[in-house]
Amino acid sequence: MIVRTIKNQSKSMDHLITKSTNYFYLAIIFLLSAACSVNPNGTDLNRQAEHVIIIGVDGMSPNGILNAETPVMDQLMAEGSYTLNARGVLPTSSSTNWSSMVSGAGPEQHGITSNGWERDDHILPPVITGTEDIFPTIFGVARVEKPELKIGAIYDWDGFGRLIERSALDYDRNGEDEDATAQLAIDYIKSDKPDLLFVHLDHADHVGHHDGHKTPKYHEAVAKADSIIGKIIQATKDTGIYSETIFIISADHGGIGYGHGGETLDEIEIPFIIHGKNIKKGNLIKHQVYQYDNAATVAFALGIEQPYAWIGKPVKSAFVGFPEPASFGDAKVAIAAPIILPKPNLYEPSGGLFIDKPAELIIEANKDVEVHYTLDGSLPDKNSPIYTQPVRLTTSSVVMAKSFGAQNEESAVAKAYFRLLKSGNGNGVSYKYYESPGMKFLPVFETLKPIYSSTKNQIRIDDINKRPDQFAIKYSTYLQIDTPGAYKFYVTSDDGSKLYINGDMVVDNDGGHGAIERSGTVELEKGRVFLEVEYFNESGGWWLDTYYKGSNIPKQIIPADKLFLRPN
Ligand SMILES: [Zn+2]
Repeated sequence: MIVRTIKNQSKSMDHLITKSTNYFYLAIIFLLSAACSVNPNGTDLNRQAEHVIIIGVDGMSPNGILNAETPVMDQLMAEGSYTLNARGVLPTSSSTNWSSMVSGAGPEQHGITSNGWERDDHILPPVITGTEDIFPTIFGVARVEKPELKIGAIYDWDGFGRLIERSALDYDRNGEDEDATAQLAIDYIKSDKPDLLFVHLDHADHVGHHDGHKTPKYHEAVAKADSIIGKIIQATKDTGIYSETIFIISADHGGIGYGHGGETLDEIEIPFIIHGKNIKKGNLIKHQVYQYDNAATVAFALGIEQPYAWIGKPVKSAFVGFPEPASFGDAKVAIAAPIILPKPNLYEPSGGLFIDKPAELIIEANKDVEVHYTLDGSLPDKNSPIYTQPVRLTTSSVVMAKSFGAQNEESAVAKAYFRLLKSGNGNGVSYKYYESPGMKFLPVFETLKPIYSSTKNQIRIDDINKRPDQFAIKYSTYLQIDTPGAYKFYVTSDDGSKLYINGDMVVDNDGGHGAIERSGTVELEKGRVFLEVEYFNESGGWWLDTYYKGSNIPKQIIPADKLFLRPN
């Protein structure tokens, strides 16, 4: 999908002029409303810290932090409070999530439903507007409630500027790149000791798109963000405000393959790390944290009352003196999930395709937990086998594993798809590769001439020779059905796809979008059915996974040993 439209935001002086006009009205609003947060001595009753610095790293996934060299963030987590299971909002696009982060609300409230959003061109109006014609962000709200605050925003992606009330800012800069952005932040901290500073770094997102997520280059980009965070923290030490400052490190979204914008956990899970004055040390936040809780937490830290229209809640349990809230439901974040080898890579979940060789199931987990696993796709419980040593797999298997702690804590479920294939049995998928400009939906394949045709073992695109944008592929294969009954097919694709059985469309996932799953059900007889998958990439990231599920077949990547080049 197309990930973002970069628009040049002119940094003219006119926002400074509107700013002084706004101040006139803001001062009145302040007189009417803000006195309640100040006690008779003039000191803030609830302010937790003098300075709050939020560093948002575009596209930095929790997985990226876990796999990159990040000594600074590791220390912030060890000496602060954090969760690596905070959740962004849908769609997992930058504009939508940055807006939610700074405005304490979801797209349903702020109306920024895609990267195509512009102030003068959008579908959903914001439910309320603040000091500008957008849903009120922390910047506009802070300016109204506490006009005396020094507020800055420095952003590597100029598109960030259109999402916020720039008229509320004392310092408003668009950095040339991540290093220039960091330097602007360091200089501003040293010169002005801001009360509220937002720093946006863009480079990890670029590397994710260019080189793929879960790749060494992506991990280098996360490591670079870590070192920049270290430099910004050092600037507060040099200026003498470190002990009065709260730092929040988070991200708009993660990524999958070369993209984001879809509906996968890899894209929607984000880190939320908070550290500094009045913040608990070594505290894993066990309750849920959402993208829109960030602004609410900043408001809480600065003693600012959040607008009623915000839906975010301050992450109070991160602050000294505030308990973890009573939980409802089972949080799956108490202990880390086990890791099934081979680890997921850029394009495949854990497991993989094993041709003419058995697979070995190896599970890694923390020392103090018991790992239970299943091989039939059922959810593991304490009655499932305990993993103690590598297990030899001789047939295609859907492996699920879960860690159980001594205090009944449970991890999330780790899944792996092992596909075993013996050569010489006529297995395979044939496909045709096409290129055509201007595609926003699947093309009419009959009107196009394929560039080339070939065969492969699975319905996948990662190992296909292709150009990055405006290509389409049509796969054809015969799927062996051993048990008659209802079968559900799923296609996760970025961009569009359709799946046909015996010429009838079963799954329609067409259009330009991120990695989104769509499904459909069909009754099938025993024997081989003709399976076709059509796929196209408009531009940007690309992804294709095909799964199926039957009455006694767990949902799994359609295994290569059930796909044949001929009908019989
Ligand atoms: Zn992106």
